[in-house]
Amino acid sequence: AIPLVIARSTSLGARRGLLVKDREALELANKADVMILDKTGTLTTGEFKVLNMETLNVQHTEAEIAAIMAGMEGGSSHPIAQSIVHYAENQGIQPVRFDSIDVVSGAGVEGSANGRNYRLISQKTFGKDVAMDVPKGATLSILVEDGKPIGTVALGDELKETSKTLIQALKHYHIQPIMATGDNETAAQGVAEELDIEYRANQSPQDKYELVESLKNNGQTVIMVGDGVNDAPSLAIADVGVAIGAGTQVAIDSADVILTQSNPGDIESFIELANKTTSKMK
Ligand code: ADP
Ligand code: MG
Repeated sequence: AIPLVIARSTSLGARRGLLVKDREALELANKADVMILDKTGTLTTGEFKVLNMETLNVQHTEAEIAAIMAGMEGGSSHPIAQSIVHYAENQGIQPVRFDSIDVVSGAGVEGSANGRNYRLISQKTFGKDVAMDVPKGATLSILVEDGKPIGTVALGDELKETSKTLIQALKHYHIQPIMATGDNETAAQGVAEELDIEYRANQSPQDKYELVESLKNNGQTVIMVGDGVNDAPSLAIADVGVAIGAGTQVAIDSADVILTQSNPGDIESFIELANKTTSKMK
């Protein structure tokens, strides 16, 4: 049976869009040493704007690049996807029809159209440097056709309003924040500097998992907060996994705590709740 004090607090939380699946989560959260935070969609809005789109060879016009990208993104629910679809729409560009589209968690999308294979992926996933105009702090993806890079897109999003106050609150609770993101080094650095926190860039879902695992092996109690499919493995292995936002179902299934709104302030409320509930039980 769930102790009354926790049952009451969790139902209190539920009213604010805070669901605790597992009562131990409150106790563990109260003694947490580290909080790993995903960037895109967790600390930042995930409402990307296309800053720049380019073609890398003479065979493809910029409009063709946009049409291919938009066609692929129709099959993805990643925050990047919608911004690329809108970008093409706004220019009256008809998306290319894809025969198949697969989402590769933490990497991008791939698919086939007109007898060719396409991938729209991070530079890290592509594995080779591609010369492009890089607006500082931008998120970058590369369009690859049958193994050859043919286009690039640079996107930007912004910090959520309550991210800074969350970081301050964590310092107050002596929980060390570390941002872990699949995004590139400069994009990660920009956000981390604004928040004045440690960060890890170019993190695959497996890297995020191993980061949490290694901290746990060091004897630290770890909270992981994320919203995406790419966060599911690390949410599952963390002492406390917190899924934030409308989120992906798999993130929700992997978590111990669900914040139904996409507000970092609710992470603070959860820590506060853990703190109050656990001290009441002592
Ligand atoms: P985060 O860890 O910040 O949530 P992800 O792991 O979801 O980021 O994505 C890592 C990188 O992979 C992105 O910065 C982007 O370059 C690329 N990527 C992921 N999904 C897509 C997509 N649907 N379209 C284009 N690029 C993508
Ligand atoms: Mg994310």
